[in-house]
Amino acid sequence: MTSEGAAPVRSDPDVVVVGGGVAGLFCAYHLRRSGASVTVLERGALGGPQSCSYGNTGFVGTHGAAPLAEPGMRSLRTLGMLSPGAAFYVRPRLDRELLRWLGHFGQACSATAAAAGFRVLVGMKKRSLEILLGLCESPSIAATFESPGIVLTYRTAEGFAAASRSVARTIASGVPLRVLGPGELDELEPKTRFAVHGALYNPEGAYLRVPEFVIEFGRLLREMGVEICEHTDVLGFEVQTLKVVGLHTNRGDLRPRDVVVAAGAWSTECARLAGIGLMLQPIKGYSVTMDMPSSGPSRPVLLSEGRVAMVPLGDRLRIGGRLELAGMNNDISARRVQGMLRTVHEYLPELEETQTRETWSGLRPCTPDGLPLIGRTGLRNLLVAVGYGHIGMGLAPAGGELISHILAGEQPITDPAPLRPDRFGSTESTRR
Ligand SMILES: Cc1cc2nc3c(=O)[nH]c(=O)nc-3n(C[C@H](O)[C@H](O)[C@H](O)COP(=O)(O)OP(=O)(O)OC[C@H]3O[C@@H](n4cnc5c(N)ncnc54)[C@H](O)[C@@H]3O)c2cc1C
Repeated sequence: MTSEGAAPVRSDPDVVVVGGGVAGLFCAYHLRRSGASVTVLERGALGGPQSCSYGNTGFVGTHGAAPLAEPGMRSLRTLGMLSPGAAFYVRPRLDRELLRWLGHFGQACSATAAAAGFRVLVGMKKRSLEILLGLCESPSIAATFESPGIVLTYRTAEGFAAASRSVARTIASGVPLRVLGPGELDELEPKTRFAVHGALYNPEGAYLRVPEFVIEFGRLLREMGVEICEHTDVLGFEVQTLKVVGLHTNRGDLRPRDVVVAAGAWSTECARLAGIGLMLQPIKGYSVTMDMPSSGPSRPVLLSEGRVAMVPLGDRLRIGGRLELAGMNNDISARRVQGMLRTVHEYLPELEETQTRETWSGLRPCTPDGLPLIGRTGLRNLLVAVGYGHIGMGLAPAGGELISHILAGEQPITDPAPLRPDRFGSTESTRR
């Protein structure tokens, strides 16, 4: 099965991780540290644009732990989510898996479910930040990590009032959020003029520069002895008596002890090759990376009601946003990119236009309740670390650690119960 010109992959590591985005790399990192031999299989280049971990805004830290399913979001029609111009757009189509996903999404929109989800995610984000800070002992990783705090801006009085009301609750969950007083936003961002009603500030706001972080992390993993096979596509699984006994790739077959599927939005099709069903939908987002305008912000800024994020990357500024539930396609919609840039103009009307360096789209792997699926499946040695949704950069470090604790039979730091892959129904394999 080896394709011409490509070296075969090592055939019998302890663990094969499918997917070289942040989810897969953090599994590999923790598994290797626990003593396992690990091979990562990535269908593209590591840190390449096919991966959702490539062009995102990289926010990590305690900010942004709310699941996408929020109280009051049950009716797609009343919220305008069926309108193509909406910041969160659902393309109407008859697709059984989408309809089931939307059914579970509706159930997750209760205040109780959203609060419970927030508690789990904020715990994972805090643990992930600790792991990232530890990784920053490596100077090349530290060079991709910035922690200048994050500003959350609100254009409308209602949006600002609702956000201000939730500050006490957010602080109680351990997130150091505060309302900025008059003039404080100008002091924090003296070059940038905001047309907003008010702003909050989280001094723990941090971000990773991607794809540089992914590339440097890959280099570190190789130094640790992890085998990373790029341009290696998993094409099938050999299953016997509820166990994966082999994997077929375009570069040869492997017979590992355990397999972790961490293939982002493609995890559904990948797990299906082993007969496993997953409750996941891709939610597309866009980013535009441009030359830094002279009045650009010096730290990450969230344009809250517009669901748009801005992050400074040295001489560049990246703008990211839009949530598009429209199936597995990476097409770039000029209309939606323009909509995102219009939102930026509404919040920062004086921001000059500069040269665009790149427009990109990525598929966020999303579960209906916003919590990832982490753990064992119906096949004894097949695990998943998927579904990190809109906050995978900030969750994957703790998720990878949980995978290694499960495989090593150790007491996990992150509670696996709310993340069980079978919580939406069985993950039993149709292949035996
Ligand atoms: C516009 C935008 C902004 C975002 N901003 C943030 C943010 O600020 N903070 C944050 O935390 N998150 C953010 N996210 C979300 C974050 O990017 C994702 O949660 C995260 O990248 C998901 O990582 P992953 O490893 O699960 O998937 P991916 O990064 O997509 O990696 C999966 C990999 O698996 C590979 N693969 C698939 N199938 C196979 C196969 N059969 N064989 C081999 N390889 C395979 C793919 O090629 C891919 O590289 C944002 C996303 C978008 C779109």
